[in-house]
Amino acid sequence: MTEIVNLSLGELLANLHAGDLSSREITQAYLDQIDRLNPALHAFLTLTPEAALSQADEADQRINTWRSDPGEDLPPLTGVPLAVKDVLCVKDIRCTCGSRILENFVPPFDATAVARLREAGVVILGKTNTDEFAMGSSTENSAYGPTHNPWNLDHVPGGSSGGSAAAVAASLAPVALGTDTGGSVRQPASFCGVTGIKPTYGRISRYGLVAYGSSFDVVGAFGRSAAELVPLFKIMAGPDPQDATTGDVPLPDFNLTLIDPGDSLTGLRIGVPDEYFIEGIQGEVEEGVRRAIEELETLGAQIKPVSLPYTEQALPVYYLIAPAEASANLARFDGIRYGPRVPADEMWDIFRHTRGDKFGSEVKRRIMLGTYALSAGYYDAYYGQAQKVRTLIKRDFERAFEGVDLIAAPVAPSTAFRIGEHGDDPLSMYLEDIFTLPANLAGVPGIAFPVGFDQKGLPIGMQLMGPHFQEEQLFLAAHAYQLITDWHTRRPDLNGAS
Ligand code: GLN
Repeated sequence: MTEIVNLSLGELLANLHAGDLSSREITQAYLDQIDRLNPALHAFLTLTPEAALSQADEADQRINTWRSDPGEDLPPLTGVPLAVKDVLCVKDIRCTCGSRILENFVPPFDATAVARLREAGVVILGKTNTDEFAMGSSTENSAYGPTHNPWNLDHVPGGSSGGSAAAVAASLAPVALGTDTGGSVRQPASFCGVTGIKPTYGRISRYGLVAYGSSFDVVGAFGRSAAELVPLFKIMAGPDPQDATTGDVPLPDFNLTLIDPGDSLTGLRIGVPDEYFIEGIQGEVEEGVRRAIEELETLGAQIKPVSLPYTEQALPVYYLIAPAEASANLARFDGIRYGPRVPADEMWDIFRHTRGDKFGSEVKRRIMLGTYALSAGYYDAYYGQAQKVRTLIKRDFERAFEGVDLIAAPVAPSTAFRIGEHGDDPLSMYLEDIFTLPANLAGVPGIAFPVGFDQKGLPIGMQLMGPHFQEEQLFLAAHAYQLITDWHTRRPDLNGAS
């Protein structure tokens, strides 16, 4: 039999339901794999093996009851292990956000996304590494040290949800949660050769997600394939009274297993924007993505050129608005309410010393950039102007989606770069986000999935973007592609890493 940690989510569930594997066996297999590989990968920041095994035992009891009386309801993910990015609150597990300022913060509640998955029966393995407060594209900004890419340990896994992406790629978890404010699910999925969904802004509640850029933040998920992400997405999606930006948009009841690979995309119009195939993009990435687009065409999709003329503006617009929102959101970390405090006689000194000592340099940079962009005298010229251009970027997508159903593009200009490659050059790191930011500015959903490897053996990813609340189309197209290709089934060889 295939090793437990290499079974797909569907296979895990089938084994659990048939009584061939217990959740305890599955959970233990993942915990053993984590023991063996996490020291080299540093994908998890916090592990909760005892709690996980006791959740697994509860799941096993439920499954046994259900097996003796299948008339009983069994929550859909009962017994399935899950890893959670360390910016989402999980009750009674330390939530650091990759920052020293939250070193000792133990949330007394679950984020809505986590609570819904828990109700659906998942077993939580622990919390995964992230750039500090999700600010970054490599996990190198984590105060606890970087995560390593399972395909090559000298390379980054992408970021900021690099811990979750690496965990899924190295089979330390079958599925994992991430967040995507400017690309943090899609880019690490692409760098690690796994599949990642960034839902529409407002599709999944942000309650219990530690805020970075509140008008962009969205909870997403990683799995090995699009099909595995669908149940997670469906469970987490939907309105939540705790987050007024969640939309009450009906969720279609789609089922990927009904797809016939032959001509499954007949009638689907996929747009290819010139603006995403620019000079400077790694040749192998462009070739890989263009090849994948041809494969989508063989499945019946109609490929059409589209234009998103304001793409180039996405980078400056995002790097004004996101830090502006971050500077407001991070004001709450003051050494009084959460985490550690650097003591001082005066209140202002407590603030100053705690923030000075406990925030990392990228977070400080964003707070300063954001405060500057929002300050009197500069507000109109920077923040106000950026908001206007954001509207133009949204309109680009609206116009494009009048003529096509989906848009296909690379996820990042290159495959995973080396740890330290961007050194102290924040601007060159920001440029890595050029193809992911527009979807966040427009609030539209995207899915990233592997479409090949470069000569160094590093995964190449592509993304499909769709109109608001059309995640179904993204899952269908990615699934159809995965039915005729096997990139998503490749696993890194980590024998030398343990
Ligand atoms: N890399 C982008 C940033 O640093 C996006 C991060 C994210 O999506 N959380 O802001």
